[in-house]
Amino acid sequence: MGDTSEARTCGRCGTADDSTAWRGDHFGTLCSSCMAVAEAETDHEQARDEGADAPAPPDPPVCQACGREQDRFPTGYGHWILLEPGIKPAAHDIPEGQRWVVCDDGTAVNWIGGRLPPYCRIAHRPVCERSPRPEKLPRIFLAVWELNASYERRIYQQDTLFTDEEET
Ligand SMILES: [Zn+2]
Ligand SMILES: [Zn+2]
Repeated sequence: MGDTSEARTCGRCGTADDSTAWRGDHFGTLCSSCMAVAEAETDHEQARDEGADAPAPPDPPVCQACGREQDRFPTGYGHWILLEPGIKPAAHDIPEGQRWVVCDDGTAVNWIGGRLPPYCRIAHRPVCERSPRPEKLPRIFLAVWELNASYERRIYQQDTLFTDEEET
């Protein structure tokens, strides 16, 4: 421990300065500038994978699939993410890559590694009723998806109630 004779070398650019450090399994050993780039790339990939392609203001923060309003936040790298309103699960229950944390400056961060916050947010996309049933995600995703789907059914039923008096 504390042995400095074995120089750490950045896995990307080969730098071995004081900023070069182990950044966890996801990133490996990186210098500070490569770490900044890697974090930006990670956020970009996650944003794309998780559907952080929400319309930017002044467009309304509505889901383009289901049309319902969501909580919209900037991701810090030029994307906008829709987070499911009112859902704050324990961060431990949410797999890495699905954990969104809203920071003090109002940006949403996809929380990778580091110390887990007590709770987090989830993106709207995986629990949108227009998305496939999230069978492979933890039960909370399925529960919220079911809830969203039931809202949709109820609104539809109310619309049709007056026309064909259908009972379920
Ligand atoms: Zn580097
Ligand atoms: Zn939606």
